[in-house]
Amino acid sequence: QAPDNIRAISPYQPGKPISELAREMALAERDIVKLASNENPLGMSPAARDAASAALVEVARYPDGNGFALKAALSSRLGVGAERIVLGNGSNDVLELAARALLAPGRTAVYSQYGFAVYALATRAAGATGIEVGARDYGHDLDAMGGAIRPDTRVLFIANPNNPTGTFIDGDVIESFVARVPQDVLVVLDEAYTEYLEPARRYDSIAWTARYPNLLVTRTFSKAYGLAGLRVGYGIGHPAVIDLLNRVRQPFNVGSVSLAAAEAALGDEEFLARSAELNDRGMRQLTEAFARLGLEWIPSAGNFVALRVGDAAAVNLGLLRRGVIVRPIGGYGMPEWLRVSVGLPEENARFIEALSPALQGRT
Ligand code: PMP
Repeated sequence: QAPDNIRAISPYQPGKPISELAREMALAERDIVKLASNENPLGMSPAARDAASAALVEVARYPDGNGFALKAALSSRLGVGAERIVLGNGSNDVLELAARALLAPGRTAVYSQYGFAVYALATRAAGATGIEVGARDYGHDLDAMGGAIRPDTRVLFIANPNNPTGTFIDGDVIESFVARVPQDVLVVLDEAYTEYLEPARRYDSIAWTARYPNLLVTRTFSKAYGLAGLRVGYGIGHPAVIDLLNRVRQPFNVGSVSLAAAEAALGDEEFLARSAELNDRGMRQLTEAFARLGLEWIPSAGNFVALRVGDAAAVNLGLLRRGVIVRPIGGYGMPEWLRVSVGLPEENARFIEALSPALQGRT
């Protein structure tokens, strides 16, 4: 019998795989559009593909467990010493490491009502108690989150932009919040979608980590870099925090093909710019359609957008029948909403085309 904290967990629900829908609906896989997991519709950069292929010849050997080359590349790109960097099997892994290193029974973690699902999962898995704080306009209510911190709180999670709502908080607001958080609470600032921010909204959270030893910034190669299937993320923080995370990290948590691809992807700025530009256009395409259909949506700073459709389970079924996979977010306490990832122009068009009949409940 598992302990209570494990039995209380409902497993993370990923987007429906294309192969599964193809089987269920007797559709060809190529006729299915999947806009459910905030992936990069361009795929990966050609430089990353070449590096991944080249790295395949070495897979009989264990990867470099310290990720020396990728950390060196991140170090020069971000201007921080390698001792301030931890690598993860996706940024989920880094979130988990933070929870495992700092949480335990009798300790608490603070996160927002619509905050990314893994915060609650990682907190419970560590045997700690989650303090879920009500949202403001679907986004993080930082004042309320600060007020929820208790003497036994050790971790506070913020996603900026947040998933699944896409909400964004200005950098100076986040920084002044971090400055107010007690030193014995680690602020985990999850920036999985930061590469999609418009230039005017960018802020230098990496520089803050030198000023606030209780700040850990997490980022990923899964989204704008297009490497979701290879599972690479990283965290930047004070060397003492990084040291703690390394104590609970698996020895070879990032594979060698993944390390090589991530390093190459980091150098391909042209691909990153193209991905962000495609996302901007796709976001306009989607939100213009929502406006035409009279639908409410939450303005998003990420590569996805949440829209209110009423009976989301029924609309989702209508979309699935038309070969379109999006993400119902009832599990986040938003039963009237669907989250759709920004795809290629033709994928967005397929979704928009399927949406009207799905909304009307036509079979
Ligand atoms: N944080 C947020 C806010 C996310 O949306 C995601 C992906 N769904 C992650 C972290 C984790 O992504 P990965 O493990 O692929 O880096």
